[in-house]
Amino acid sequence: MKEKRIVEFQNKLLNWFYQDQRNLPWRQSSDPYLIWISEAMLQQTQVNTVIPYYQRFVHEFPVVRALAEADLEKVLKMWEGLGYYSRARNLHKAAKMIVHDFEGKIPSDYEMIRKLPGVGDYISAAVLSIAFQKPFAVVDGNVKRVLARLYCLDRPVNDTQNKKVFQDKAFCLLNLEKPGDHNQAMMELGALVCKPKKPDCEGCAVQEFCCALKAGEVLNFPRQLIKAQTPLYHIAVGVVYKDDKMLITKRKEEGLLGGLWEFPGGKRNPGESAEDGCIREIKEETGLEVSVIKPLKTIRHAYTHFRILMDVFICKYISGEVCLRGPVDYRWITREEIPDYPFPKSNHKFMGLL
Ligand code: SF4
Repeated sequence: MKEKRIVEFQNKLLNWFYQDQRNLPWRQSSDPYLIWISEAMLQQTQVNTVIPYYQRFVHEFPVVRALAEADLEKVLKMWEGLGYYSRARNLHKAAKMIVHDFEGKIPSDYEMIRKLPGVGDYISAAVLSIAFQKPFAVVDGNVKRVLARLYCLDRPVNDTQNKKVFQDKAFCLLNLEKPGDHNQAMMELGALVCKPKKPDCEGCAVQEFCCALKAGEVLNFPRQLIKAQTPLYHIAVGVVYKDDKMLITKRKEEGLLGGLWEFPGGKRNPGESAEDGCIREIKEETGLEVSVIKPLKTIRHAYTHFRILMDVFICKYISGEVCLRGPVDYRWITREEIPDYPFPKSNHKFMGLL
């Protein structure tokens, strides 16, 4: 697009945004801390899912110092169910760093903010543009789709090699006077109008600038690389009772679901029955001998890079002292104490039956 057309595009986009944007809780503030929290939550997660989490989180930790001083377990509890728990752990680490190294203020400088754990291209551009009006273009999945259609970009959006192509196009269109509003408008256009399957091109404020619409090829963009199917793992898990208490274990802080509590178990060996896998895994992880009493539920759950099929059993403690291999802590808890601990979503899928 020529410069004059870009200005026209920016004006049309912003006028539409000011009129039709959703009333989202984080849009009522330009506080960099609140914007940072909302953007961390919005990565890979739908707005409607984020809203109640955001409201509870900022109520509990209204300022960065409150987050820095909180126990990690409390932070994970507030994040429970939102997934991608490394985001919560990084927020917590970054809050401590902001308090200790940046006098409690979110850095407004690119080099500084990039030093915070978990702050990559997306969050830095979002916080710097929305809270500080700095000229950084935000590129998320919604923006990529809009750009791919506006420019008929023949590059797969899910190929990291094309990151710079999308970044450059986004920057070309960026409104340097109002970068924060512009970025939010691009994301909002993707979320509300330029949707993946049913874009509302007739009602689109920037339709006159759209290459894909002119070419009659809207649904052919964005291009995607076809991904191989994610692997499926068979998992066996036991709810081990000793009198009226159940055993839970804590995952180490780093890695998938780090710092969360769970019922013990793990991957079945090839050819191993679910019951045998459950007994063996519990023995290996905790040192306890248990027996399977009955099946509780079979759960399917999908993570980003794999899926699990999880057989859950009610088990009975037989003998042994807890000796952990893998987990970093354990508790014997009653059913009433379950809400005191943060658990992964896969465990929530059967805990209601206990
Ligand atoms: Fe998206 Fe349609 Fe608007 Fe083009 S005209 S940007 S495809 S909604």
